[in-house]
Amino acid sequence: MQAGRLIVLTGPSGVGKGTLLRSLLEEHPQLYLSISATTRPPRPGEVDGKHYYFVTREQFEDMVVAGELLEWAEYAGNYYGTPRRPVEERIQLGQSVILEIELMGARQIQKTFPSALRIFILPPNVAALEQRIRGRGQDSEEAISRRLAQAKTEIAAADEFDLQVINDDFEEALISLEAAILATKG
Ligand code: ADP
Ligand code: 5GP
Repeated sequence: MQAGRLIVLTGPSGVGKGTLLRSLLEEHPQLYLSISATTRPPRPGEVDGKHYYFVTREQFEDMVVAGELLEWAEYAGNYYGTPRRPVEERIQLGQSVILEIELMGARQIQKTFPSALRIFILPPNVAALEQRIRGRGQDSEEAISRRLAQAKTEIAAADEFDLQVINDDFEEALISLEAAILATKG
């Protein structure tokens, strides 16, 4: 059986990655979205084991030491990481796996999985990004400032990626993303 493809989706917080992925997965349920572990507290409505595995810093550090994470990074004061086992199993079964992760993690994957397709989602501009983060209404003022500062660093690295998709018109962005991901199905 042919191995599945690993797809990395990166872009600043609030750019619309989660919204794009929800639509993509509704249309293409054969794609598998990896569920990350994080030490960030759940936002209202987030469910443990569905949106993230919410863990303590101690639990996270144990996972790192045990080699259970494919990649991990600290982002805006919290740890985030990809559990290795489910990703490797799905890929062996021929399923395409999507990681929605930040820049440092995407760089680690480039080293460990050079065949991964790495896609960067860009906002039309920083003002629109700030509006989206505020519009989501789920982050404190401090978290918003940290995310915007981080966004500028991330956007500067967009051309390290195989493909850049601007999420201005949502439907257009979704079509570009869909074309890139399905073209890699192998
Ligand atoms: P991320 O997962 O990248 O942090 P989200 O998917 O949570 O971002 O999106 C942040 C906010 O931006 C949400 O309120 C979402 O509805 C909105 N959004 C997403 N795409 C667009 C778009 N193309 N135009 C305007 N708003 C958008
Ligand atoms: P949020 O707190 O908004 O859910 O996520 C913050 C950032 O962490 C986003 O850029 C998201 O893509 C990233 N992220 C989520 N899970 C992981 C992961 O497993 N590894 C890494 N490196 N980043 C992650």
